[in-house]
Amino acid sequence: MPDGSDSFPWLTHEGLTDVRGEPVLVRVDFNVPLSEDGSISDTRRMEASLPTVRDLLDAGVHPVLMSHFGRPGGNRSPDLSVERFVPVLEDLLGSPVRFATDCIGDEARGMVSELRSGEVGLLENLRFHAGETANEPSFVEELADPGAAYVNEAFGTSHRVHASIVGLPGQFEQAAAGTLMKREYTTLTRIRENPERPFLVLLGGVKVSDKFPLIRTLLPIADRILIGGAMAHTFFSALGYDVGESLVEVDGVSDATTLLEQCEDVRSTLVLAEDVRAEASDGRVESFSRDEIPPDWRAKDIGSKTVDRFATQLKEAAMVFWNGPMGVFEESEFETGTRELVNVLADCDSKVIVGGGETGAAVAKYESSDQFHHVSTGGGAALELLEEKSLPGFEVLDLAK
Ligand code: ADP
Ligand code: MG
Repeated sequence: MPDGSDSFPWLTHEGLTDVRGEPVLVRVDFNVPLSEDGSISDTRRMEASLPTVRDLLDAGVHPVLMSHFGRPGGNRSPDLSVERFVPVLEDLLGSPVRFATDCIGDEARGMVSELRSGEVGLLENLRFHAGETANEPSFVEELADPGAAYVNEAFGTSHRVHASIVGLPGQFEQAAAGTLMKREYTTLTRIRENPERPFLVLLGGVKVSDKFPLIRTLLPIADRILIGGAMAHTFFSALGYDVGESLVEVDGVSDATTLLEQCEDVRSTLVLAEDVRAEASDGRVESFSRDEIPPDWRAKDIGSKTVDRFATQLKEAAMVFWNGPMGVFEESEFETGTRELVNVLADCDSKVIVGGGETGAAVAKYESSDQFHHVSTGGGAALELLEEKSLPGFEVLDLAK
């Protein structure tokens, strides 16, 4: 495993040689959310991979894009076809896009062989074949067949040991990363290795037990870790407070207790929410101190004291990493904590790095993502990269020459 600091050890698409006029397979992550009417509600993940596609077009390469979409479980599911992305891509790229109704076989080969300079190919949903998630060797070979080289630009899937992520690169003499992969890697690795100080971490959301490894990784690195969202409830329980009907991950309580029992250093790094906004079963909403949540009430946002305290601390940070919303921001009654901290972070001078699916959505809901140093396109992938220092999808790429 490379131990670079800001440097990126792998070959990038700019370093590919002898690929002019050749089809290059580009694994992208177009697993975007849809609205109820089936339209694409958020194209950020798509747009993030397009600079690399444009570079390849400019270099005279024929980019052939491949992605998964949803969980069709190895079956052809027409409602999960990626054909819906053709007009969106044509619009965003300003280039014609040819589509193949299967990602392997004659259909894919035929489409790729017809590509002309300036055109982009798109293969049907990779997960219509069970071989994708199983990383099946025969599927890997078929997928590789029409390509001359490989580029991974699917950061959000690069923690998965799937055919198009870890199998495919080995089929080519040149397997490179795209611009997005490089940016995600260098930004997230920087947090661990060389953060600007004061370095603050803001954590919330629900998946507490999933995120304990992250807390343990960041504890020795961060100057402060601020904890809100449902994650805070698990710590309240560990402190012995009754949290009423609030969401608590019972399995996480003993981990939280262990953390809180550690040395004074740890206790002063962890800053828990001090008050909450909660909802009663009849719909009334009130604020409570964290040790006074009545039975039958459900905490759904951080309270105003906590918002002020977190805001003051965040404004003084040089670098911030944020994962997990502060409350149920999907409901307007409980969006205040998340919205206010998004606004504070957008306006302050610190370098703010955001990771996590819902956290990224919250940022996009209240501010333009450009206001932030980096909004990761990966949820699980971003957290795993922080914990493990690398991902399976990076380890199979060629090293830079
Ligand atoms: P991310 O996807 O950014 O990693 P998570 O998946 O951990 O974040 O958590 C996101 C979800 O957490 C949001 O959908 C939000 O509604 C929920 N959430 C945050 N605070 C609370 C709370 N106090 N009670 C219930 N759910 C909460
Ligand atoms: Mg999530």
